[in-house]
Amino acid sequence: MHHATSGGPGRLAGNGAVVARAPAKVNVHLGVGPLRPDGFHELQTVFLAVSLFDTVTVRPAEGLSLAVRGEGSAASNGPASVPADRRNLVWQAAELLARHAGVTADAHLEVDKSIPAAAGLAGGSADAAATLVALDALWGTRATRGDLARLGAQLGSDVPFSLLGGVALGTGRGEQLSPVLARRRWDWVLGIAGEGLSTPTVYAELDALRAAGSLPDGADLVSPEPVIAALRSGPTEALAAALDNDLQAPALRLRPELRRALQAATDAGAPAALVSGSGPTVAALAADEDDADRLAAELAGTGVFRDVRAVHGPVHGARLVG
Ligand code: ATP
Repeated sequence: MHHATSGGPGRLAGNGAVVARAPAKVNVHLGVGPLRPDGFHELQTVFLAVSLFDTVTVRPAEGLSLAVRGEGSAASNGPASVPADRRNLVWQAAELLARHAGVTADAHLEVDKSIPAAAGLAGGSADAAATLVALDALWGTRATRGDLARLGAQLGSDVPFSLLGGVALGTGRGEQLSPVLARRRWDWVLGIAGEGLSTPTVYAELDALRAAGSLPDGADLVSPEPVIAALRSGPTEALAAALDNDLQAPALRLRPELRRALQAATDAGAPAALVSGSGPTVAALAADEDDADRLAAELAGTGVFRDVRAVHGPVHGARLVG
């Protein structure tokens, strides 16, 4: 049995439990380059971590076991899509960290999901990031943040950002990060659609649209600089004008009703709205917190979305909670 060797907030609470949480993300810019020989696309993306969190609790146990609650779990009202076995990214995170640290993968993992699954919000990546942080503390692996980021990148391209949080420019598959300092808070309303959308399906649709000549081939990416400049300190209008997502067109092809959802957001007065990542979540920019609350209430009344959440960013990445 391995115990945490250093103290810190939230470590070894009741029955030796360690709790960590990690945020959802919105891609405020997502430029998708051509397909690489390894099957991934070269990306230039600007991630913003927003205040919608999943929580992972880990406890001493023999062997690995897992319970999933909340959004996407078998017990939830919505569509059940989150596996509660070794297919879950948190299970894979535990095995990877154990191998890296040379410890036995002994823990009971509990995932409390507020981030809807397959929504373009990197919920699975958030869970993996929170698991790495929690198990590092439980097992006392003394892994550095850099170690965790490298392990995270093996689990999924968005996991390093779920660890880092804040605002960052992502290149490569999105796993190579340069932090960006944002000097102001940004308020958003997330409009959650009923059914998830598979990320590989959306990329495949983009490739098909490009191959058919319906979209430019991706050799010339739109620069992320205007979004980065606007995010730093800009007025809301500057960010509204710069928002950009290459996955929006294929997501709209696969889900034509998302057009109505985007329209509903701008009709309700959002300065701009875009599909988050591979969708189908719609991220509507708000002028400030009051505007976000007003927008959320109005969008909830349209019946276009399964759920509507007012959030803000940037927020911190995966960390232990007391
Ligand atoms: P991204 O924005 O990174 O593409 P997403 O938010 O669209 O991700 P996720 O919620 O990360 O999608 O999940 C995508 C799929 O991964 C799910 O449909 C599910 O089958 C699988 N999965 C594995 N582990 C998890 C997890 N812990 N939470 C959610 N989904 C998971």
